[in-house]
Amino acid sequence: MTPIPPGATIGILGSGQLGRMLGVAAAEMGYRIHVFAPEHGPANDVASAFTAGGYDDLAALAAFGDAVDVVTYEFENIDPAAVAHLASHAPVCPSGRSLEVSRYRLAEKALVRDLGGRTAPYRPVDDLVSLEVALGEIGAPAILKTTLFGYDGKGQARIDTAQDAAAAWTAIGAPKRLVNASPAILEGRVDFAHEFSLILCRGADGATVIWDAPDNRHAAGILKTSTLPAPPEVAAQAEAAKPLARAVAEALGHVGVLTLEFFATADGPVFNEMAPRVHNSGHWTIEGAETSQFENHIRAICGLPLGPTALTAAQIEMENLIGDDAARWAELFAESGAHVHLYGKHEARPGRKMGHVTRLRR
Ligand code: AMP
Repeated sequence: MTPIPPGATIGILGSGQLGRMLGVAAAEMGYRIHVFAPEHGPANDVASAFTAGGYDDLAALAAFGDAVDVVTYEFENIDPAAVAHLASHAPVCPSGRSLEVSRYRLAEKALVRDLGGRTAPYRPVDDLVSLEVALGEIGAPAILKTTLFGYDGKGQARIDTAQDAAAAWTAIGAPKRLVNASPAILEGRVDFAHEFSLILCRGADGATVIWDAPDNRHAAGILKTSTLPAPPEVAAQAEAAKPLARAVAEALGHVGVLTLEFFATADGPVFNEMAPRVHNSGHWTIEGAETSQFENHIRAICGLPLGPTALTAAQIEMENLIGDDAARWAELFAESGAHVHLYGKHEARPGRKMGHVTRLRR
């Protein structure tokens, strides 16, 4: 691929904080950002152009594609058909294949299994009857999830006993049957001590870098902290999972950042899900790695060589500022060595990611 030169315009689908941090990295490298989203968001503060449109608005997507040099996205809940349409107007990176697999829980788990990775036991679920059958096969405890549009623990219900099936089906919104897809998945509940993520970036030439794996702590399904180095037993499992991560990126022909989330269990790493994009558990790379996930993603989609990913400190912790946490901003800015990132969101709703802070110990 001929590199896209600085001065060119990168289109980003989505106006959230991931787009904002991609935009900051792109601006530092001399690129401009054009955001496409239904409404203004944190990315607009760093964008030089904006198109307001729905992700199914083919005419607006075509005009957007004609106005930019390459398109990337900051979230994966976009209809692959709309992306295919956009791809006839501008190169889209990562490709539609990465998006198609990673937005659909059943497809990502099937790919990982095909490549020899482990997942929780799972079954597709189409309605309450098939949920009851699946629960009979997998057994409780289990977790019922929607297969599409899930994030931060949304669209999920815990099942502790077989009697919980109907309530769980209602809790995830009793999703309608789909053509050529199942609206839900039942997963056996994994017994794990830690969760970690592998954040990799694959360049247009196939060269791949992987950052050290953070130990991720969640609260109510939302990431709370990412800590490095991970404890030795987690780091060992992360090392063992790296060939799988590379194989997934290779199989998808992925270009850009790809994040795979795992449970560290007594029997080794168990894959949970993946995202074809920069990830919350990689925010620490802005100060904590030689090249951030945001810069390397821009480098990859522009056909540039990737930067090194070594840690810049002995200990690193990223803490998400969720809901009212961001009200502590004065205290955080007064904290020596704390790198505070606020996303410019006006309303602090419970569970909403308002910013993050990264602390390094050298
Ligand atoms: P997800 O949206 O799949 O990333 O799920 C959000 C969080 O719920 C995960 O980070 C885990 O903490 C928890 N979780 C999801 N799936 C399972 C599972 N099969 N077993 C145990 N915990 C899970």
